[in-house]
Amino acid sequence: MPRSSALAIAVAIACAFLALPTHDADAQPSTRWPIHSPDRPAPRIIKPPANAWTVAPPSDATVLFGGTDLSRWEKDGGGGAGWKVENGYVEVVPNAGGIVSRDRFGDVQLHIEWMAPLPAVGESQERGNSGVFFMGRYELQVLDSYDNVTYADGQAAAVFGQYPPLVNASRPPGEWQTFDIVFHRPRFDATGKVSSPARMTVMHNGVLVQDNVVLSGPTAYQRRPPYEKHDDRLPLSLQDHAARVRYRNIWIRDLERP
Ligand code: MG
Repeated sequence: MPRSSALAIAVAIACAFLALPTHDADAQPSTRWPIHSPDRPAPRIIKPPANAWTVAPPSDATVLFGGTDLSRWEKDGGGGAGWKVENGYVEVVPNAGGIVSRDRFGDVQLHIEWMAPLPAVGESQERGNSGVFFMGRYELQVLDSYDNVTYADGQAAAVFGQYPPLVNASRPPGEWQTFDIVFHRPRFDATGKVSSPARMTVMHNGVLVQDNVVLSGPTAYQRRPPYEKHDDRLPLSLQDHAARVRYRNIWIRDLERP
């Protein structure tokens, strides 16, 4: 083999390694594993900080749910949001439908607190399933992942079907948990092709679990569909997956409006 070819190969191999994530080995590109693969390594379990990571809304945040009413929400598909509000939280009413924010957003910082039902009911995806959908399309999974095995890209704090969390920082059911998320919407060029994919960074109970991951497209079950051009601003939505998950202290900062 000519020396120049050997050098080119060596450079190519080095580049391939440089392209790999530099953090936890679990942070694989989303296309490396088949979707919902049971063989994909489960993130290691860690104990999150003992104190709750609750954060009060800063002055420039929009409070989407402050504990008393769902006036900023409606039912997915239209109509009143049919979830139960009591004691400072809102609880999913199974089969009442998801809820969507009346406001529309693109790039955001979101704080949201949630609790999986106690006692725990069901297994795998049937235990405490809900979800936070950015722009109604890109799901950060809510699930009771405490002592509950499911496929890695479907557990709590997974970008559903794409990225397992870097670690499992779940609290037990019946305890409040937090997500702090930075979401960047995708950008599309004039022809409708994606020019800049969506990205997500997530802290679960104060622990980094998604490190600026690049989404392959919108969320789906058992498939990874490509991007389809959509509006720059769309509602945030919360999923009704027939589990009585509770939410509280939901606030959002619009990163595209000074
Ligand atoms: Mg879900």
